[in-house]
Amino acid sequence: MNHAQNTIVIVGAGFCGTVLAANLLRRPPSDATDIVLIERGSAMGRGVAYAVREFPHLLNVPAARLSADSRDPLQFLRFAQRHVPDADSEDFLPRELYGDYLQEVLLQAERGTIAHTRLLRIFDEVRHITRRSDGKGFAVQFLDRPPIMADRVILALGNPPPPLLPWAAAVRDHRAYRHDPWELPKTLAAEHSVLIVGNGLTMADAALELTQDTSRAPALHTISRRGLIPLPQTTFRPSAVRGNGEALLACADSLRQVLAMIRELTREVENRGGDWREVVTFIRHLAPALWRRLPLAEQRRFVRHLQAHWDIHRHRLPPQLAARIASLRRSGKLQVNAGRIDSVIAAGEQLRVSWRPRGGGSATLTVDLVVNATGPDYVLKRGAVPLLNSLRAAGLVSEDALDLGIRTARYGACVDAQGRTNQDLYYLGPMLRAEHWEATAATELRDHAEQLAAHLVDSRVESAARSRQPL
Ligand SMILES: Cc1cc2nc3c(=O)[nH]c(=O)nc-3n(C[C@H](O)[C@H](O)[C@H](O)COP(=O)(O)OP(=O)(O)OC[C@H]3O[C@@H](n4cnc5c(N)ncnc54)[C@H](O)[C@@H]3O)c2cc1C
Repeated sequence: MNHAQNTIVIVGAGFCGTVLAANLLRRPPSDATDIVLIERGSAMGRGVAYAVREFPHLLNVPAARLSADSRDPLQFLRFAQRHVPDADSEDFLPRELYGDYLQEVLLQAERGTIAHTRLLRIFDEVRHITRRSDGKGFAVQFLDRPPIMADRVILALGNPPPPLLPWAAAVRDHRAYRHDPWELPKTLAAEHSVLIVGNGLTMADAALELTQDTSRAPALHTISRRGLIPLPQTTFRPSAVRGNGEALLACADSLRQVLAMIRELTREVENRGGDWREVVTFIRHLAPALWRRLPLAEQRRFVRHLQAHWDIHRHRLPPQLAARIASLRRSGKLQVNAGRIDSVIAAGEQLRVSWRPRGGGSATLTVDLVVNATGPDYVLKRGAVPLLNSLRAAGLVSEDALDLGIRTARYGACVDAQGRTNQDLYYLGPMLRAEHWEATAATELRDHAEQLAAHLVDSRVESAARSRQPL
């Protein structure tokens, strides 16, 4: 491969990597640039969320609110209507279709780019990223192929795997334990039972998949500390609330005051016949600024006491899935529990779970399958992601004080172990939550990708201008 003047390497071609590459191709730097997009899986533009799976999981956002291009809000809807002619703006469409759309977004951007910009796709896993000895950029290393030299690297690795919780260590290799909630067995029947650990959106996906054939559906139990499950999505008006954002930000040194204002706003909206989801959307847009203004002790209190409540209001179930979960609960097929697991031990082919219900006492449950749906392990120092672990060991990336994710500065520039901002190493993805709190949904990450792409182009122009200036 000829070395271009400027090589931008993007590690990970799921949602973030793909949308970033498309933005760079649409508005490339002015010098000859190679955009190298690297994916360890078999397809680009999908990642975990939009993968092709046997079971058609649904998006939890209506089609008209999921464009990968903020300047063209109905882009995904138009794409969807070419494939599903009666698709409506408020429909919750299959996630796989969204992956098809992201692939088209990349292809169109590649076709439309200017001559001196190339997109190079590599299917391989990046094992290490090390600073070059001359200090200019990085060597990106793979398992088998020769390294690539990069001027700038963007880490778009997606969510880390779930944590291996203490109770799981004893059974991690048992056939009845699934650490990956997307790898469910097909052999379960009505006489079997399953414990799903976690009560979030992944639990709902797993519950739906395990009960798709109602005649063979196993008995489902779920558990999380509080037993809260995500609330249903509706076709609410996302921009209906024009609250006083300034006033909310002004009292951001006290979580109690922020909460009181949000409750008051919700009452007002509901008294006018509105939907509390309108308030959540309003808060969500303010969340990054609000988060940064909260003192560390208040951020800690939020994580400990309020996060679970925020999550079920913010990350909601598509209506069809919410209705199915409600019907499974009514029929007794699904029991949602609040409590803590003490231990899980092998009992022949099954697993015996000892747990403590939230109200007190103790209980046991013997099941044919335990599924870990506790969500990603964001704690960088636990080393769930080997590549991040090696970057952390080299001091190139660092964690925030609350262990929420990766410490970043503007545009996702990684902050190193000494607190300095790297101008050639960036992070884009859900671990931006350390700085922005809300950085999970497609449209939030899309906005980060657009801003980072513009910055990568503009900062290149600035550094070229600087290097032309006489000393
Ligand atoms: C199951 C699920 C459903 C979701 N549904 C919705 C929804 O309906 N609506 C919404 O707004 N948001 C949704 N989200 C949130 C959001 O869209 C995703 O989290 C988003 O796709 C994250 O993008 P990403 O690029 O960070 O991660 P991913 O899309 O997962 O991509 C990361 C990619 O990096 C690759 N990779 C990792 N390490 C390496 C390496 N070392 N070398 C090479 N490649 C590597 C992985 O293989 C993967 O393809 C969902 C998230 C999940 C997990």
